[in-house]
Amino acid sequence: VQHDGGNAVCFYTPEMAAAATRRMMLTMHLNHAIERNEMHLVYQPIVDGKTGRVVSAEALLRWTHDTLGPVSPAEFIPVAEESGLIVPLTDWILSTAIGQMMRWNAEGVLPDRVFLNISGQQFLRGNLTARLGELLSGCPELRPHLGLEITEQAAVRDLKVAIKTLGELSALGIQTAIDDFGSGYSSLSYVQQLPVAKLKIDRAFVIDVPTNPKSNALVRAAVGMAHGLGLATVAEGVETEEQRKFLVSVGCDLLQGYFFGRPMTPEALAEMIRQQRTP
Ligand code: C2E
Ligand code: CA
Ligand code: CA
Ligand code: CA
Repeated sequence: VQHDGGNAVCFYTPEMAAAATRRMMLTMHLNHAIERNEMHLVYQPIVDGKTGRVVSAEALLRWTHDTLGPVSPAEFIPVAEESGLIVPLTDWILSTAIGQMMRWNAEGVLPDRVFLNISGQQFLRGNLTARLGELLSGCPELRPHLGLEITEQAAVRDLKVAIKTLGELSALGIQTAIDDFGSGYSSLSYVQQLPVAKLKIDRAFVIDVPTNPKSNALVRAAVGMAHGLGLATVAEGVETEEQRKFLVSVGCDLLQGYFFGRPMTPEALAEMIRQQRTP
């Protein structure tokens, strides 16, 4: 039991203590994860709704520790943000993905766009554009193939910085997408001010279409409003043919989910792209 000097008393439950211990342990191990080669990127295909062809991919981070086993990015990314380790980690993600894009390009299998996830903290930090400019200076041909996903919450947290950074990225030819759209408290009035190209509709909505009329209405409205603002839409978490059909019927431009492919190795994605080329 801890007294904070006022009237409030906070109780620490065993669950809270266990969670804190787990976070401390993850922080400790995260410190060495890059140098020990425990991180790798997997890539999930994103298809054109109309043609079904793979046009983009999203890079997703994987961490496998010797004794902890695989740890979900949903768990360790927040820990990396808290501890500041997100800075070297983001740098590793950017340079690793750009290196992979160079190899794909040499093999003639580079997707139109490869999207990387940028944590809120990294996005609002300010030196992202400069660092990307540096990394891409030797390979400017990759710029129109790079995309960044930032969460709705991060963009809205500091609208001024977000607008400035998104503008800089767009000037570099790098496309940006608002991730997890609909999951936060923000609204399209904010999105309208952001110079982004794509809106990713959160899986939470996609999961219920086409059986839940309310989700159907929400998805239909999101697609309609995005198009009205000149933005393309991506639906995430598409798992069934029924979902695919509905999303295409409401005009969703791009689709992503297990139905089309799980996050996979760069070699497997290259193979998918090669396969759809052979007549
Ligand atoms: P996100 O950006 O919303 O990524 C989509 C998540 O949904 C991924 O989980 C992906 O594997 C999963 N997913 C894709 N299709 C389906 C589907 O059809 N069904 C289901 N059930 N799930 C699907 P993952 O890879 O575990 O990543 C979780 C979150 O961790 C990401 O959510 C993102 O917020 C964060 N994350 C992942 N990689 C990175 C990274 O490189 N940098 C940063 N900053 N965050 C990352
Ligand atoms: Ca994402
Ligand atoms: Ca997402
Ligand atoms: Ca999500």
